[in-house]
Amino acid sequence: MRSVVILSFLLLGLATVVVQGQVELSTPGPLFTPDPEDDSTPNPEGDSSTEITTEGIPDADTEELPLAEECDEELCKLPDCRCSSTDIPGGLLPRDTPQFVTITFDDGVNVRNTETYRDILYGRNNSNGCPAGATFYVSHEYTNYRFVNELYNQGYEIALHSISHRIPQDYWATASYDVIKQEIADQKGQISHFANIPFESIKGVRLPFLQMSGNISFQVMADHGLEYDSSWPTTAFRDPGLWPYTLDYASIQDCIVPPCPTASIPKPWIQPMVSWTDLGGFPCAMADGCFFTPAMDDEEGWYQFIVGNFERHYLGNRAPFGFYVHEWYLASNPAVQAAFIRFTDLISNLSDAFMVNASEVIDWVKNPIPVGEYREKPCREWSTASCAAQPDCGPLLGPNAMNYWMGACNVCPRVYPWTGNPLGQ
Ligand SMILES: [Zn+2]
Repeated sequence: MRSVVILSFLLLGLATVVVQGQVELSTPGPLFTPDPEDDSTPNPEGDSSTEITTEGIPDADTEELPLAEECDEELCKLPDCRCSSTDIPGGLLPRDTPQFVTITFDDGVNVRNTETYRDILYGRNNSNGCPAGATFYVSHEYTNYRFVNELYNQGYEIALHSISHRIPQDYWATASYDVIKQEIADQKGQISHFANIPFESIKGVRLPFLQMSGNISFQVMADHGLEYDSSWPTTAFRDPGLWPYTLDYASIQDCIVPPCPTASIPKPWIQPMVSWTDLGGFPCAMADGCFFTPAMDDEEGWYQFIVGNFERHYLGNRAPFGFYVHEWYLASNPAVQAAFIRFTDLISNLSDAFMVNASEVIDWVKNPIPVGEYREKPCREWSTASCAAQPDCGPLLGPNAMNYWMGACNVCPRVYPWTGNPLGQ
């Protein structure tokens, strides 16, 4: 009897961790390293025994929006419409399809994590001689924009992860159009301004804690020229993996962190976060959210774990393979970081796999070409963004009467930039 009780406690604990493993962990400050099991970012649905429902969540802005209908492949065609599907775009065979690898890092960019990025990313090429990509979903608080400028100048993609990244997670689940507009759309102008990078180079969105707000964020994206979202995990479409698609028609994707969009919202693309499978068979949206992993000091085990997940894509339908992680996880686990580098070495040596910026995946899906043709294409190009040599700005008065210091590439703001005043005027 006693062992049964203990076993059910173990299982209960496991279920909670697995649910948390699917939400993203936050990094509130540059020196704070959250424990992967820290429940400071609880999934609002995770502690409930009742069925998940989206009832009662205010969704006033969607009242006029038409409910999305079942997708009609005759009406929904590339380059601007694609049904949610595991089919390879363009009807290509797997062997003719480039295997894209999207490496992404979330949260604030600062001097400490930029040192890691320099160590593990800079100077790497794909087998076609083009620079390998990576994408940074940047949140504003504690970000030093001088390093955002540096990452952009290295050819990486800068994308949006909100100004406040605030808790509780329910703030995002129930956010109004105005809240998301202030957190996401305004952040595009904010990053462009302080990092001095082109406004139009910012295209992607990842919501904090992977917490969507139904249709709202996609309406904001459609209205403000944001091209793709990468907040939506799928565990049902892992093998074969779900390819990117648009929201013109109803999505077949499983809703892991509700509320998910239900309306027909043309323009924005969904770049699904195809989950990994951990060693216990459980899904994890972020690599640092996996529960049953190799030992944290087992480099070979981690390398095999990463490659095993990659092969589900590479030997399958070649849906883009995401390596979604926070810098602290690699920096605090040297064996995992070494395995990561070995994995990127492997990709650099494959003739049909490419580490790219996330927006390049959308570019390819809109206009799918066989891998042989893709290899011959010119590499992506980017402009050089200058950054005025100046000391950090501060002290700047911010929320909760806190003082902040902030690196910027142009004139210092008057106060610490925040929602409602993204330029700190
Ligand atoms: Zn985050």
